[in-house]
Amino acid sequence: MTESQNVKHNIPLLDLRNYIVDFGVLDLFDRKIAERLLALPLYMANGALAVAMAHPDNILAIDEIKLLSNCNNIIAMPCEEKDVMKCIDYNYSFKKPLADVIGSGREQDDDKLIRHMISEALKMGSSDICIRSERDELRLDFKIDGVWHTIVIFPKIPYLSVIEKIKDLAANNDTCPDIGRCIINAGVKEIETRIAVFFQDHGEKIEMRFVDKDRVPDKIENMGFSEENEKALIKHINADHGIIFVSGPGDYARINTLYSLLGKIASPEKKILTIENPILHTIRHVNQAQIDEKIGFSYAEALRSFIRHDSDVIMIDKIKDMETAELAFRASMSGHLIIAAVYQSGMHNLLARLKDLGVDPNMLSSCVICVLRQSFVRLICRSCKVEYTPDEVIMQNFKNDFPPDMKFYKGRGCPDCNNIGYCGTIGLFELIEFTGPIRSKVRDGAAMNTVRNMAIEAGMSSLRQDGIDKVKRQITTVEELVRALKT
Ligand SMILES: [Zn+2]
Repeated sequence: MTESQNVKHNIPLLDLRNYIVDFGVLDLFDRKIAERLLALPLYMANGALAVAMAHPDNILAIDEIKLLSNCNNIIAMPCEEKDVMKCIDYNYSFKKPLADVIGSGREQDDDKLIRHMISEALKMGSSDICIRSERDELRLDFKIDGVWHTIVIFPKIPYLSVIEKIKDLAANNDTCPDIGRCIINAGVKEIETRIAVFFQDHGEKIEMRFVDKDRVPDKIENMGFSEENEKALIKHINADHGIIFVSGPGDYARINTLYSLLGKIASPEKKILTIENPILHTIRHVNQAQIDEKIGFSYAEALRSFIRHDSDVIMIDKIKDMETAELAFRASMSGHLIIAAVYQSGMHNLLARLKDLGVDPNMLSSCVICVLRQSFVRLICRSCKVEYTPDEVIMQNFKNDFPPDMKFYKGRGCPDCNNIGYCGTIGLFELIEFTGPIRSKVRDGAAMNTVRNMAIEAGMSSLRQDGIDKVKRQITTVEELVRALKT
């Protein structure tokens, strides 16, 4: 298709540069057919197949694609013929699994290899990629459902330049020299990629995180809260002032919980502001502010300006400095509801952490409404779920927790779950509500453990108990629960 033909059709030509094709649809027809039809399948969405075509008017070609793909709705996207041919060559040549490509020697250039990695990571549903320099090797890991998996280990020579190439991608960075962003076009949408570089003993480590802003955050009903916790949380997030803390491992898991809480109260009548870095998803009826340290828009600065606004709810995606902590407490006393995550590994010392940040125990006891501690477990893959007997050593952790005749299940591993046996995640939660007796203990300077034990004595279901209940419902395994409780 030429530019002039295209002007006639008044459709912009699709730019195939930086386009990551969905490998799943490449299988719909082989390379020879693609070359003959001058067409490249790009992605499938809402029952329609998008195809890049040099001649989108070619009805015969479209009919043939309908037959091959068993799909009647073909969206023909006009492209330059030379671009289509280049992309056919490019995409069909790296349809092989990544490990095979790397194992077969240095045939791809860095750019192609990186796109191959990203494409395979997205196909496997991974949220992060890590490339780590070891003594003589590079290790490529994908994070899938919150857990790292090693995909391939390959020699440093001749692949070391891949790391430099990724650093180049991140070169247009905005906040600090070692963190950059790039946008990748992943078929149906663009995905922002955050790239961080760390220095280690044997060289650099690169972490790439995909930020998919279009992904709809989970609703509170789908988070995995027990009925009791959900009811209590809905009551608390409708309070007109005070602080709700969310704590636990995994930035993404914490923020997902914060979003699910906001989603429950977001409406045009309520003024909700957020302070985030980065903004992971867009939420309706919520004003979301992105931190930008470079221009002095820090957490504390954002919060100071928000307190002056007449807002009802302020969400802070992480409190990690004294100034922000103090401001959050001050805001909660002046008629704002604060929903905040606290960055730390374990939650047992949350109160100590807040005290370290300069928060007075009196303020803690009068402002905090509740502390939601969380972790997550992976879900058994439904396509390959089988009964099994868990290891005796593991079961020693759960002596009287399960009935003697209970049946246990796990995922055997299948193509649907990338042979992992798990697919998706669900939260584990415990909700420490600051009732009268707990408040007075906190005022006296009690440690988090004491407060937590009081809550358990008063009937709170612990994180461990929540996990046991989920094993009983046969949606996760005891091995997974042990992993979750260790993090
Ligand atoms: Zn499976």
